[in-house]
Amino acid sequence: MKRKDFDVIIVGAGPSGLAAGFVLAKAGVNTIIIERGKFPGSKNVMGGIFYTKAMDDLIPEFYKEAPVERHIIEQNLWFMDDVSHLGVSFKSQKYNSEPFNSFSVFRAKFDRWFAKKVEQMGALIINETVVTQPIVEGGKVVGVKTDRPDGDLYADVVIGADGVNSFLAKQLGLRNKIKPNIVALAVKEVIGLDKEKINDRFQLRSDKEGAAYEMTGPFLDGMEGMAWLYTNSSSISIGVGVVIQDLIEHKTNPNDLLEKIKAHPSVAPLIEGGQTKEYLAHMIPEGGYYATPKLFTDGFLTTGDAIMFVNNVNREGSNLAIESGKLAAKTYLEAKQTGDFSSKSLSRYQDKIRKSFACKDLSMYKNMPKLLEEKRYFLTKYPQFFIDFVYDWFSVDGVSKPDKIKKAKKEFGDKFGYVNFAKDLYAIWRYMIR
Ligand SMILES: Cc1cc2nc3c(=O)[nH]c(=O)nc-3n(C[C@H](O)[C@H](O)[C@H](O)COP(=O)(O)OP(=O)(O)OC[C@H]3O[C@@H](n4cnc5c(N)ncnc54)[C@H](O)[C@@H]3O)c2cc1C
Repeated sequence: MKRKDFDVIIVGAGPSGLAAGFVLAKAGVNTIIIERGKFPGSKNVMGGIFYTKAMDDLIPEFYKEAPVERHIIEQNLWFMDDVSHLGVSFKSQKYNSEPFNSFSVFRAKFDRWFAKKVEQMGALIINETVVTQPIVEGGKVVGVKTDRPDGDLYADVVIGADGVNSFLAKQLGLRNKIKPNIVALAVKEVIGLDKEKINDRFQLRSDKEGAAYEMTGPFLDGMEGMAWLYTNSSSISIGVGVVIQDLIEHKTNPNDLLEKIKAHPSVAPLIEGGQTKEYLAHMIPEGGYYATPKLFTDGFLTTGDAIMFVNNVNREGSNLAIESGKLAAKTYLEAKQTGDFSSKSLSRYQDKIRKSFACKDLSMYKNMPKLLEEKRYFLTKYPQFFIDFVYDWFSVDGVSKPDKIKKAKKEFGDKFGYVNFAKDLYAIWRYMIR
């Protein structure tokens, strides 16, 4: 008789694995989650803004008991050079009421709490166990090998929720080795600061309200990347992620960039007097839609960062991971009705992913990586021009405003050419908006 220890084995207790485990256990499926970390979340890093919708669908009003920091009521996008920032800011009281759009969180706390919920549903989670390879029999995935003695486990289906490096998907030939142009290396520091100081500096009325800042522009020297600063209850999360290919070409590293950001005159006063509590590093998938690998094979489904399900433009990853985990679980439940876990049966997962809001968003941005590769000056020359123009506009220096506009028009024409500018606008429309 064919050996079977569980109905489903999930590899990885990040948001995608835990979401899949929650749905499966709730439906009475005998599920095990295998996590290599000391506990779920111990190895996981995020900026981290957590969008609530996907989780709230799973556990309504989860934020009332989950370890969340502040709900975000203000979003800022800053274009920075070395001495200035030009920002777009949005703050709304509409974000100040339940069910809340997003929270700042610490993954080490949040994943651990989520894992407890999954256990309460009936799934088994084992920590400090590394899955070393899939077990394949007759072309079908039937289980996994672990680093424990006699650690082979068998199931109907294995779900690979093992993150950006996903060795399982690689070993099964579903994806290639990640190229350095589709993955970013990110570092993050948590800086302890009094609640009152945070409230004052960020104009927040209580330690429940939070603000989020994203920073890009010429200060990154033309590298594709983003820095961020988020308020937690009594600390600040600050970090930067840059595409690895760019780090190699610019012979730099994210640690130096983070120090540069912390010293920036617009950022330094916000973190002044704070004490570094934690320093973390992790990779972020950046390839978007075209980097999505094959999602399934006989007896196997893969989710979350392992399928590059990250929308970097809108800084969404953890919620997309939850969404894909739920869809993988639903696919299993459908397949279980016929007992058919073949590739053909599991291919329903692909349709579900395609129809999801997340995939539609990724599809909209699908040409973004190519656009930025071809037109890197979108991140440098254009923002620099507008930073300089705004500086000039607000400087009262005896030059009239009409003369300033005339000068700016000429400089713009000399620098970019109006025909080229029209072409660039068309490229944005063609690649992103259309
Ligand atoms: C620096 C940074 C900032 C980010 N900021 C944000 C943000 O602000 N908002 C947002 O929504 N998203 C953000 N993201 C993205 C988000 O963190 C990911 O999209 C999300 O965590 C993916 O979840 P996952 O479950 O697929 O993978 P992961 O969270 O990576 O979980 C994978 C799990 O699998 C385990 N594992 C791996 N291999 C094995 C193995 N062989 N055996 C056993 N266990 C294994 C790991 O230990 C880990 O627990 C950020 C990511 C980074 C790196």
